[in-house]
Amino acid sequence: MRLETTQIAAAVEALETYMVETLSGFVRAESPSGAEEPAARFMEHALRDLGLEPERIVLDTEQLKDLPLFACPCFPDNGRYNLLARHVPEQSTGRSVMFNGHLDVVPTGPQSMWSQHPFDPVVKDGWLYGRGSGDMKAGIVCSLVAFKALRSLGVEPAATVGFNAVLSEEIDGNGSLATIHALKNALGKAKLTDFQAAIIPEPFGETLLSAQVGVIWLFIELTGRPAHVAYMEKGVNPIEAGIAVVADLKELEAEWNAPENRPELFKDVPHPINFNLGTINGGEWNSSVPCACTLGLRLSFYPDMSPEEARRIVSERVRATVARLNSALEVKLRFEGHNAPGSVFDLDTPAMRTLAQAHAKVTGAEPERIACTATTDARHFQLMTDIPVTCYGPIAKDIHGIDECVSIESMKRVATTMAQFMVDWCGVQKVEKT
Ligand SMILES: [Zn+2]
Repeated sequence: MRLETTQIAAAVEALETYMVETLSGFVRAESPSGAEEPAARFMEHALRDLGLEPERIVLDTEQLKDLPLFACPCFPDNGRYNLLARHVPEQSTGRSVMFNGHLDVVPTGPQSMWSQHPFDPVVKDGWLYGRGSGDMKAGIVCSLVAFKALRSLGVEPAATVGFNAVLSEEIDGNGSLATIHALKNALGKAKLTDFQAAIIPEPFGETLLSAQVGVIWLFIELTGRPAHVAYMEKGVNPIEAGIAVVADLKELEAEWNAPENRPELFKDVPHPINFNLGTINGGEWNSSVPCACTLGLRLSFYPDMSPEEARRIVSERVRATVARLNSALEVKLRFEGHNAPGSVFDLDTPAMRTLAQAHAKVTGAEPERIACTATTDARHFQLMTDIPVTCYGPIAKDIHGIDECVSIESMKRVATTMAQFMVDWCGVQKVEKT
């Protein structure tokens, strides 16, 4: 059955209200990392509305803890679960795909800094605002719109299409790890061989992801010696020590960013390695040398370095700084959260070529390829399976920032590309209109 790109685009266009309403409801379903259930429940309904039956994949750290990509979690399992729904045609004649997206969103920061409540989405000048709108509930909604658009044209994919919604992407990635582990071991209804391509609709502005850095989280706990400030010399200040530790780590960051130390894929990225001091806790009040200080950092490194090696280099730097400052300082390093190796993605496999060509049919040009300065769950597919994978999602602004928003026009283009991809990759067959 032949379908023109213009027909697919028109079918997506006709679903704009569904798209905006679904994304708005999804954003309203507040889902910070560690407490994703409202978004999981919302997605369960949205998938059932499409006639799909989502299966819950419950996070079980015990089952995952010996896997190489397991990250020491920041939150307990608490019965949290991923959702995996599959469209399985009666007769499968094409090639299959999985759309994989994360349900969790990052903290909002003070609500007073937002133009509107971060979980009360609004549409303004073609952008939908709200925490998680861009990163990455919009991309997940695009995949639903793509599927629904084909249905509205009286067809459905002629191969398995998976919709996998995972938790905990922003802090450790153990959600996607749980799904892939379950697929590899056929713990649920689906198995790994059901899928021949994976697309992660992260908001990378309609580009294809060619590589991503490795990421680890580190907590540095410093203990000093408290004293009255009148006799400050008797004390040892762990907060001031923490400032020096961060300054030395920033020197390491500059070394890794130096042009001669960059791998080819990151040559044109202005500042590929970012060490971020994200949290600092410590001190009692202004007139005492404080007792303790904890720094929370996010560190990154190139794909040719393992997380173990990065941890070793960073630990040595921190311990050297602390030893230089004062022998009375105690330091403890805790690696919790991200344990993500970097990855390089082959964009010349048939699946990824088909995706690039689908984008070209919709927009008139092949998509750009980008090397990303953050991590994504694409690493689990790349490092644990033979399934070709990339990220491809809509244009968003201020993700992880204030007034995060996503472009509705871009969502429509991405949904059209996804539907075109399903036509070209999975093939389509007629369905009885319901
Ligand atoms: Zn994301």
